[in-house]
Amino acid sequence: MGKNLTPRNEDYSKWYNELVVQADLAENSAVRGCMVIKPYGYAIWEKMQAQLDKRFKETGHQNAYFPLFVPKSLFEAEEKNAEGFAKECAVVTHYRLKTDENNPGKLIVDPEAKLEEELVVRPTSEAIIWNTYKGWIQSYRDLPLLINQWANVVRWEMRTRLFLRTAEFLWQEGHTAHATREEALAETEQMNNIYAEFVENFMAIPVIKGAKTESERFAGAVETYCIEALMQDGKALQAGTSHFLGQNFAEAFDVKFTSKEGKQEYVWASSWGVSTRLMGALIMTHSDDKGLVLPPNLAPIQVVIVPIYRNDEQFNAISEEAKLLTEELRAVGISVKFDGRDTHKPGWKFAQYELQGVPLRIAIGPKDLENGTVELARRDTLTKEFVKREDVVAKAKGLMTEIQDTLLKKALDFRNDHITEVDDFKEFKKVLKNKGGFISAHWDGTTETEDRIKEYTKATIRCIPFNGKKEEGICVLTGKPSSQRVLFAKAY
Ligand code: AMP
Repeated sequence: MGKNLTPRNEDYSKWYNELVVQADLAENSAVRGCMVIKPYGYAIWEKMQAQLDKRFKETGHQNAYFPLFVPKSLFEAEEKNAEGFAKECAVVTHYRLKTDENNPGKLIVDPEAKLEEELVVRPTSEAIIWNTYKGWIQSYRDLPLLINQWANVVRWEMRTRLFLRTAEFLWQEGHTAHATREEALAETEQMNNIYAEFVENFMAIPVIKGAKTESERFAGAVETYCIEALMQDGKALQAGTSHFLGQNFAEAFDVKFTSKEGKQEYVWASSWGVSTRLMGALIMTHSDDKGLVLPPNLAPIQVVIVPIYRNDEQFNAISEEAKLLTEELRAVGISVKFDGRDTHKPGWKFAQYELQGVPLRIAIGPKDLENGTVELARRDTLTKEFVKREDVVAKAKGLMTEIQDTLLKKALDFRNDHITEVDDFKEFKKVLKNKGGFISAHWDGTTETEDRIKEYTKATIRCIPFNGKKEEGICVLTGKPSSQRVLFAKAY
């Protein structure tokens, strides 16, 4: 186990980086901006994947896989999308290395192995997928086409942070094709709702659903819907996006279908994605100065049992009891680890499982065997209590729900306390500086004003919330008329 974490109020970003590494979630790799996700971190990601995948399939989607490389000519086809991602593209130009004659033991790119056409490493897969869909869609009977892919993508980000923003990241990307505008829009909304439901109920993170402004929209999209979360340091995080692509990609790749009426029409599209950034959201929403705090619904280990003993005899007796308890807990669907290692002291183990966010710790000592009790310790509240042995399973099961609910409520209270209505630009800057969080303010609807506010304050419009009340007002910067408040924040 490493040293103590830097406290959050001293240096939030340092705290985050230390936590990710010390809790054994991920580490930086030999490749700039690319991370190694370690087994404990990957186990959490797998749980997220399983839940999301289930929801995608329940709503009629199927998984498929498309290539990592996109020929440049295909990538260029939808101009806005290409232009939007061009600055972040890794490009393959050669397919072979050879020994350097002047420098044996070293390899150089073989100039004779230049690709006829460069290959873009996918930053997103609309191009390759829509080029494929052309061969799959002929008639209205082929629609809707509801496909998802679990994959890695590469965006050559200049400022990277473990999980939150990496050059290569893992994600899922849904790509759907529909006969009508309404259907594609309904799909875009459905998937944004699925993300919101998953993030709230499994990650215990409250989110605000809304639409992006033009300047924050996905390149090539007609509309981008999103879910926005608030981190403990008052900065917002885009947790997921769902795009209505109109007929842009169908036109670019000439994907038409024969309608029921026998007419040739362009197909309507949506795409949607969440990434390993969600891991960053999870960490930054719940964790504390002692380490990770995990909601039980996503914890790879929900309960850890630690024996407290002085000799072999005690250890054997406690192990027997722990084995029984493990079986009982597993029988009610709780994942349990018994840490009987004699290489580490109980105090070390306590600190380690706190660091790794295990929701519930059970300690059993010789006294407990005598008294028919165990000691329960909650990770979220750091409270301890003795519980009768016969009540442990029911208690633990109840606590799984209670801890999950407590985390969501705490995050929700924090988020709600950090939405400030502001009507004056001086106040805007003051709130942003002193309190952070979301600022709910009127905006005149122009990109120019949005850019100026960003330039003055670094805050961007996170979303135009769907549930925002319609209200006449004047723009916080220009004084021009506005009909709805939007949410500004500094963001990751
Ligand atoms: P987009 O395709 O840009 O709408 O992004 C899809 C999802 O991936 C969103 O939830 C983004 O927040 C997330 N995302 C975008 N860029 C990165 C990155 N560099 N690292 C991790 N996640 C990202």
